[in-house]
Amino acid sequence: MAEGKATVDANGGLNVRQKASKDSKKLGTLSNGTTVDYYSDNSGWLQIKYSGKTGYIMKSYTHTTGGATGAQGSSKGDTNVKFDVDKAVEYNKKRNYSKDLWKQIQSKAGATADGAPGKETAKAIAQWQGSHGLTADGMCGAGTLQAMGLSSSTATESSSKKEDGKTSSGSANVSIDVSSAVEFNNSLNYTSDTWKKIQAKVSVHADGDPGPNTANAIAIWQNKNGLKADGKCGDKTLAKMGIKAKTKTSSNPSSYSTTDVPKGNITAHFTWDQFKCKGGEAVPSNLRDGTRRLCQNLEVVREELGGKPIKIVCGYRSKAYNEKLREKDPVGVAKHSKHMDGIAADIRIEGVKVEKIYNTIYQLGKSGKIKKGGLGKYVSSNFVHYDVRGGSSWTTW
Ligand SMILES: [Zn+2]
Repeated sequence: MAEGKATVDANGGLNVRQKASKDSKKLGTLSNGTTVDYYSDNSGWLQIKYSGKTGYIMKSYTHTTGGATGAQGSSKGDTNVKFDVDKAVEYNKKRNYSKDLWKQIQSKAGATADGAPGKETAKAIAQWQGSHGLTADGMCGAGTLQAMGLSSSTATESSSKKEDGKTSSGSANVSIDVSSAVEFNNSLNYTSDTWKKIQAKVSVHADGDPGPNTANAIAIWQNKNGLKADGKCGDKTLAKMGIKAKTKTSSNPSSYSTTDVPKGNITAHFTWDQFKCKGGEAVPSNLRDGTRRLCQNLEVVREELGGKPIKIVCGYRSKAYNEKLREKDPVGVAKHSKHMDGIAADIRIEGVKVEKIYNTIYQLGKSGKIKKGGLGKYVSSNFVHYDVRGGSSWTTW
């Protein structure tokens, strides 16, 4: 007969083991808050019934009533990171990361570095994410890569039959400028639905948010379909995919005064003058709320980085100025940049490395201290792009 009741007190759930040992076979998991009868209480383990079998759970992750006094646990030990392993494996396999990159990820996460991401890898990634303040979903996307200090600048997809190192037909080895492809794709202003269609077409996770993985997958798709493999999903690529793009409605005014620069500051350390377009135009009145929101977030970044002045390399960009830039560089300059919405800033801080600014902004967003949005680093040009487009996760490049 039962000795007492135990209620699980572990956020990620509590593993049920076949024997009273963490190394023994896992029978399953009890979710947080579950109350079960226990039949014995020995050396920190409670014997329970689980799916008709005898099982054991760690007492320190429970509150017990009846029997001996329940010792209440800390938060380390046999807790379980709960996530959908199969979904994570599927996601990871679609990353188009090179085998080498997977080996690096695996060794970071503490999994066998065989270059082939399976369940073990997903679990190790989830553990790693959990212990590094990330969402423990086992999916190694851009955020996790970034946090691991790795990058997927080269998209490699090789045929499983490739043996001699030569590129066989049906396999692609595509190297693209990921940063510029991501910035380009984001500036296309396609709706999330359009992006989901594109992502499905190139077999990446269809989250409607084009990041580095999407760019890499597009490049591979372009290569296979006889297009220039640059990862940029412009008109030609769309046409070949048979996808009709819908674009978000633009908030840009058709005309505005170029002399109407509001006087003074936007926030304590940012002025309207700093955010003026390089073509001379002021931030249009209907976009100023967005620019103010951006600056409020930049104030937090400024303070976090020691209160040094932030240089605005590029703030607002008018449609006319953008078109001018596009005439010179139709590929590199995007049709609709977040700068045109007045919610983006390319920033630089004297004496602070791009990496440091990027990582600080990333973490501030993660901890909810600033708004997440778009975040790109441009190491050679020495600036970081930050925009407050919103979203529940960062779009990084
Ligand atoms: Zn930018």
